[in-house]
Amino acid sequence: MEITFTGKRALVTGAGKGIGRDAVKALLKCGAQVIAVSRTQADLDSLTAECPSITPVCVDLADWDSTGKALQDVGPVDLLVNNAAVATLQPFLEVTPQEFDKSFSVNVKAALHVAQIIARGMKSRGSGGSIVNVSSQASQCALQDHAVYCATKGALDMLTKVMALELGPHKIRVNSVNPTVVMTAMGRIGWSDPMKAGPMMSRIPLGKFAEVEDVVNAILFLLSEKSAMITGATLPVDGGFLAC
Ligand code: NDP
Repeated sequence: MEITFTGKRALVTGAGKGIGRDAVKALLKCGAQVIAVSRTQADLDSLTAECPSITPVCVDLADWDSTGKALQDVGPVDLLVNNAAVATLQPFLEVTPQEFDKSFSVNVKAALHVAQIIARGMKSRGSGGSIVNVSSQASQCALQDHAVYCATKGALDMLTKVMALELGPHKIRVNSVNPTVVMTAMGRIGWSDPMKAGPMMSRIPLGKFAEVEDVVNAILFLLSEKSAMITGATLPVDGGFLAC
C-alpha cells in the first residue's frame, strides 16, 4: 500500500526521540512538510542536521501559554501526530500530586491543546485533516506501577472519541494508536528489567515487543486517505496483547 502526503503539512509532537522522531522521518519520506515539536533543543538540532527541511519548534508542551505562543505561527497543518508523553512509574499508594499533574499536563492536556490549535485552523480552512493520538495498551489494561500513566492514556482514548464526534462534521478524523512495549527511552524505563519484560512478553500472542516502525506504519495509515472511513478508533499495535 503506497501512502503519499505530497502537498500536506504535518506536525509531530515529541519529535526529538523515539517514535516521534521516526514518525517525522517517515512523513518526510512520504512527501509531507513536517513541523517537529519537542522539548530538548539538542534533539531538534540533531534531527534538523539529519532532515534539514523540517521546521523545528522547541517548547515544553506542559506549559499551556508557551505552547500557544510557539504554535501560533506554524501555518496550516493537515496532519497532526500527538505523540509527546511522559511515563513515571510509581506504586499506586505512593503516587504524588506532582507526578499526577506532570503526567496529565503532557499526556492529556497538551494533546488536547495542540489539537485545539490545529483543528481550529483545519475547521476555518474547511480543508479537513487527520489527527492521530499516540496512546498505549496501558489505556485499556492495568499495568503494575502504571496507575497515573494508565489513567492518562485512558483519558486520551476517550478524548480521541469525543474529538472524533465533534470534529467529524468538519472532515477531521481523529484516531489513536495503542502500542505495546517499544524499546525506546521510555520503553526502557518500564521494561529493561528481564524480570518485568519476560512476563509481559509472555502475554503477547506474537511473542515480541513492537518495533518503532510498527507504530509509525500504523500512524501513517491512520493519517492517510487509506483510512478515510475510520475515525474514533483506538488501534492496538500490540501483537494481540489486548485481545487476550
Ligand atoms: P520517548 O521518551 O522515547 O520520546 C518522547 C518524546 O516526547 C521525547 O522527544 C520527549 O522530549 C518528548 N516530550 C516529552 N514531554 C514533552 C514535553 N512536555 N514537551 C515537549 N516534548 C516532550 O518516548 P516514546 O517514543 O517511547 O513514546 C512516544 C509515545 O508512544 C508516547 O505517547 C508514549 O506514551 C507512547 N507509547 C510508548 C510505548 C513504549 O513502550 N515506548 C508503549 C506505548 C505507547 P524530552 O526527551 O526532551 O523530554
